[in-house]
Amino acid sequence: MNPVNLLDFDLDALTAWCGELGEKRFRAVQLFRWIHQKGESDFARMSDLAKSLRGKLAGAAMVQPLQVISEQASSDGTIKWLFDVGGGNAVESVFIPEDDRGTLCVSSQAGCAVGCRFCSTGHQGFSRNLSTGEILAQLWFAEHHLRTRLALPAGERAITNVVMMGMGEPLQNYSALVPALRVMLDDHGYGLSRRRVTVSTSGVVPMIERLQADCPVAMAVSLHAPTDGLRDQLVPLNRKYPLAELLSACRAYLSAAPRDFITFEYCMLDGVNDSPAQAQQLIDLVSGRGGQPRVPCKFNLIPFNPFPASGLKRSPRDRVMAFAKVLQDAGIVTTVRKTRGDDIDAACGQLAGEVQDRTNAQNRLTRPVIRIEAS
Ligand code: SAH
Ligand code: SF4
Repeated sequence: MNPVNLLDFDLDALTAWCGELGEKRFRAVQLFRWIHQKGESDFARMSDLAKSLRGKLAGAAMVQPLQVISEQASSDGTIKWLFDVGGGNAVESVFIPEDDRGTLCVSSQAGCAVGCRFCSTGHQGFSRNLSTGEILAQLWFAEHHLRTRLALPAGERAITNVVMMGMGEPLQNYSALVPALRVMLDDHGYGLSRRRVTVSTSGVVPMIERLQADCPVAMAVSLHAPTDGLRDQLVPLNRKYPLAELLSACRAYLSAAPRDFITFEYCMLDGVNDSPAQAQQLIDLVSGRGGQPRVPCKFNLIPFNPFPASGLKRSPRDRVMAFAKVLQDAGIVTTVRKTRGDDIDAACGQLAGEVQDRTNAQNRLTRPVIRIEAS
């Protein structure tokens, strides 16, 4: 029998599994803390676990890390890891340090089935869902690697925020996502507050409704267009879940959410969605004037990160600022995202760049390299 991967379990599932071994809940808590809080994967070193339990674990279970294919560090401190998930697939995580926080951008799928026009992951197509263990292995590795690398004092965390904004549509991998979120939030796990864990979605309406009930965390919705006509073109999922349904789900979500606003992400595409008139349409859309419910929100304008196959261009800076001003003048908090990690292709939507060519990814998988380009 293959050993089970303990990274696949939230605390309740680990407790149930330990129960099958005849172990009490407090033993599961100890084990969970060793894994997630101390980053330990070797049962023999879990010194306060009973010898008998360590014996049962050996052979029956393991903590399965992801193999790091490459690491790139940007001059601005951003670090990107490419992880092997087998079968020629790779996913990426990006660490973004700021003065008061450390954010990890985590992937949920190898590829993505939504196929947004402006996203290189979307152009790559869908390979497969990541397991809970593969989602958590990104955080497990990054947290414990960074604690050592940054020589953090005992008890200090490297990662204070997680955003599910890497490769993939997290709400199309719901059953693996939710236990992973629970481990992030668990005080015996990573102890992150619900406000500091963000799920970003292109708008999988039924799953927004389920997340509200199962595990409400901060929510970012990738809007990108003020009308169904344009959004149908940019985010094909809009044909299934049009704006009226999406906005209703957003509004309902806020009744249970840890924050009292939705963050709308809006990728600025030159001549496509960036006119002042479209900014005004957005105001009408979220303020309830278009007949939809009013949605308390903030806007995050993302300068488009171009890639060759997209055929799209980044909006000029003055156009982005003019667009932001229209929204701000209407009282909507609007930020323009700083592009981080540009020099290592770690910015939004560029994450698939390196793995787009499956043949290249295959080559890389047979020849692992650790590459550090700048520090
Ligand atoms: N699938 C989810 C989360 C991953 S994408 C979603 O779509 O929300 C994370 C963010 O990056 C989304 O807001 C997405 O629209 C944005 N993005 C994708 N490609 C981009 C690109 N080329 N330039 C800038 N932002 C991009
Ligand atoms: Fe998928 Fe998000 Fe990229 Fe759209 S933007 S293709 S949903 S990863």
